[in-house]
Amino acid sequence: MSSIADFVRLAYEKVYAVREKFAEAGLVPGDIRSQADLGLIPLIRKSELAERQRREPPFGGFLTMPESALQRIYVSPGPIYDPQGPGPDYWRWGQALSAAGFAQEDIVQNTFSYHLTPAGMMFDSALRHLGCTVIPAGVGNTELQVQIMREAGVTGFIGVPSFLYTLLKKAQELGFSKHDIRLRKAWVAAEKLSEDLRAILSGDFGVEVYQGYGTADLGCVAYECSERRGFHVAEEVIVEVVDPETGQSLGPGEPGEVVVTVLEPSYPLIRFGTGDLGALTGAPCGCGRPGERLTGILGRTTDGVKVKGLFLYPHQVEELRSRFAQVAFLQAVITQIDFRDVLTLRAEPVPDADIEGLGKRVEREAKELLRFTCRVELVAQGTFDGTEKNIIDARNWE
Ligand SMILES: [Zn+2]
Repeated sequence: MSSIADFVRLAYEKVYAVREKFAEAGLVPGDIRSQADLGLIPLIRKSELAERQRREPPFGGFLTMPESALQRIYVSPGPIYDPQGPGPDYWRWGQALSAAGFAQEDIVQNTFSYHLTPAGMMFDSALRHLGCTVIPAGVGNTELQVQIMREAGVTGFIGVPSFLYTLLKKAQELGFSKHDIRLRKAWVAAEKLSEDLRAILSGDFGVEVYQGYGTADLGCVAYECSERRGFHVAEEVIVEVVDPETGQSLGPGEPGEVVVTVLEPSYPLIRFGTGDLGALTGAPCGCGRPGERLTGILGRTTDGVKVKGLFLYPHQVEELRSRFAQVAFLQAVITQIDFRDVLTLRAEPVPDADIEGLGKRVEREAKELLRFTCRVELVAQGTFDGTEKNIIDARNWE
């Protein structure tokens, strides 16, 4: 694709849904001249894509080539149809796997499903594109997978992090050590990877774990480099972070909905609202790659609550709590007094905490970190068992 303007014009000409979006916003293709103009186009959400596919199966009119020209057609839960268009690495995961050190000499056990959904083939095609040898292992069969890993001299793993941990624990139980297993690198997605688990996999098992972010509809969106501090936005991909209600772009570091445009002419999804919560940074990365990074995927936007015109998300409340060793649990409660939102933080101290001035300190930090003025209420020990939601919207909406 030569430019965003050309891409948008092609999508407009070939896809009825895109013409509808433009009409809705009073736009013509000539209004979109650069990336900065993309924000004018209304978002398309997954639910709308699914609905359009129901009305006009299989692809809702988004496919710009005959179905018979596709390599494969997938059906993800929903059901939602996903195309595999032309090219050896249609979903562009090769760049992500290469950044994680996957190369020609690797023998890779791919444990994503090959059945109906595109996950297995997405990584299979990227691995083959890099010249790796693939074992299409799919999901399940823990003991057999351990046996394969050992006997076939597997050096790389692809799948979800919990399954990698299960396999390595099983190998340990069966009496195999690091020397019996050649696995040294893993690439994971589709599940949250905690830094604790990453440290265990590296320390106890000698496996370096990288991760990336993408979806069945979009393919590769962003991926980790050797610095493993956030996800570099992939080539041919534009990522915006927007206010999930208004669709307006947010500034660096501000959490909001991850909105993705992939410059893929066969299936042009323009401003696809993922519902995932993320934030962008333009700060340079130690690896030298240019461009923006997602600082992480922080949850779902639907978990956010709007308070005094700003969104408050569970991960922010948890971040605030983690800054105070004396606070065991922190819960934000939103009420209204005289039609104005009031934010109260209920903090449960750890046993024998020194609570002198604690409330004031949490209040100051909340102002700094969350940008909310709030009052802090210290609650008795045992008020929370740690399983409660950390944001409660107690406003009366009737
Ligand atoms: Zn980097």
